[in-house]
Amino acid sequence: MLRVVVLGAAAGGGVPQWNCGCRICNAARGANPELQSTQSSIAVSADDEHWFLINASPDLRQQLISTPQLHPKHGALRHSPIAGVVLTNGEVDAVAGLLSLRESSPFTIYAHRQVLAILSTNSIFNVLNEKCVQRRPVAVDEPFEPQLPDGSPSGLEILPFVVSGKRAWYLEGKQHPGGDDAEGDTLGLRIADKRSGKHFYYLAACAQVTPELAKRIKGAPLVLFDGTVWRDDELIAAGLGAKTGQAMGHIAMSGESGAITALAGLDIAHKVFLHINNSNPVLLHDSAERKAAEQAGWQIPHDGMEITL
Ligand SMILES: [Zn+2]
Repeated sequence: MLRVVVLGAAAGGGVPQWNCGCRICNAARGANPELQSTQSSIAVSADDEHWFLINASPDLRQQLISTPQLHPKHGALRHSPIAGVVLTNGEVDAVAGLLSLRESSPFTIYAHRQVLAILSTNSIFNVLNEKCVQRRPVAVDEPFEPQLPDGSPSGLEILPFVVSGKRAWYLEGKQHPGGDDAEGDTLGLRIADKRSGKHFYYLAACAQVTPELAKRIKGAPLVLFDGTVWRDDELIAAGLGAKTGQAMGHIAMSGESGAITALAGLDIAHKVFLHINNSNPVLLHDSAERKAAEQAGWQIPHDGMEITL
């Protein structure tokens, strides 16, 4: 059985974002605390005992406290069910949580060499002593089975593939520590339970649904998909920023080339938006955008939501 827990559903900054006074952030601080959401990450397990994080958000410590599946085993002085972390990109909201996983518990980081290069050239990540925390490169289009800390197989099979996107914004215009080949900067994942064959797709960052991607995810039992903005110029229109969704490497939910239209008709059984920015009106339960997304068969998750396949 494949278990997925949404640890955080929000995009970078979370809801509310520390310096944001927009309608949604203010509501989350005040009358509508149910709107609060941490930065996006999921946990996945094939045995309900050992878990792998997909990305480690800056909110990881808070997420671990509120997720009983990830607490130390009862009676153990030092233990964690977290067997590994799979990184799909090098953004702050994907890697900063690694710093909360120091304290000498064994686990493995799986990432493309481009992202591993970002970690190895930032000395602060040396708090994860490589004697305890191994770093293993993964390659595009090569499936791998993550291991448990004792070396035994996890029962999961993960296939990383290239998705249209952007390198981490703090590297824009800068030399990438992993070299100029940007291939591994944004990965999608196909995650499967080897025993049952059940699988899902994780695409929390995606700038465009190409015909190749549509073909890949057609008929999938579950897709977790980039829900950063409702419309491409959302941040500009709200006076919150100067960048479009596309400029940040994120497809919009709405519009002719948006995710809702692009994934309609692909026969996907369960569609869930993830990485939702605090500017996105889909977060408001009574908004027209929320109704439109739900009518199109999409779910807007809350932190802690569990999905079983
Ligand atoms: Zn806001």
